[in-house]
Parts: sequence; C-alpha cells; structure tokens
Amino acid sequence: MEDCIFCKIARGEIPSAKVYEDDEILVFKDINPLTKIHLLCIPKEHFKTVAELNEQRTLLLGSALKKIGALAPLWGLEEGYRLVINQGEAAGQSVPHLHIHILGGEPLRWEK
Ligand code: 5GP
Ligand code: ZN
Repeated sequence: MEDCIFCKIARGEIPSAKVYEDDEILVFKDINPLTKIHLLCIPKEHFKTVAELNEQRTLLLGSALKKIGALAPLWGLEEGYRLVINQGEAAGQSVPHLHIHILGGEPLRWEK
C-alpha cells in the first residue's frame, strides 16, 4: 500500500523507534503511548483485519505472538502485559494495517 503509514514505517520511509525487526514483523514504540510501555507489532505485509487471514497470514500471526511471548521480558514487560488488536474504525482502528498493541509497564485495570 503506497500511502499506508505502517507500510511506510516497515519500508523505513517514516522513522520509528524499533525494538525488534525480522523478515516478517516489526515492533516499535507507539508515538502516543497509552501506558508506560506501549509497543506496536506489525506484519510487514499489508492487510487490515483478521477477516483477511489466509493460511500464510495465520502462520505469520501465530509466529508474531510467539515472538512477542519470547521477547516481552526483554522489553520490560516481565510483570505482564495486554495484547489488543482493534478491528475496524468502530472499534478504534485508525490505521488500516493490522497491528497488535502491546501494553504494559504498569498495573492495568480490567473491570467495569
Ligand atoms: P489503532 O487506533 O489503529 O488501533 O492504533 C494505531 C496506533 O498507531 C495508535 O496508538 C497511534 O498512536 C499509533 N501511530 C499512528 N501513527 C504513528 C506513527 O507515525 N508512528 C508511531 N510510532 N505510531 C503511530
Ligand atoms: Zn500497510
């Protein structure tokens, strides 16, 4: 996608504070953190939501979760963290390139 912000970040055309990168994914700091530690994990391939998962993307997403699980302690998230994937504008998705929010670094509430 030519003018997708996260594709531009993946291509290095927009700078980002990267904490991890390989051939498939990139993890970088959210520019507007909601918690003390707020990272975004994106596949380098552009697609918007889990409704667009095919076999290869399903493997990619599973592998991304495995990498997050292995690396989270190195990012200061050893006490726990929250993973969020907003799906669609009504749910708060503002960038139409699938991304996993990785939130933590402080106690997170989970009640009404
Ligand atoms: P969404 O609202 O789509 O679930 O999340 C998009 C996230 O991307 C937001 O938390 C927003 O702060 C972050 N974001 C938007 N533009 C940029 C950018 O150019 N650089 C970085 N690092 N984060 C961005
Ligand atoms: Zn994109």
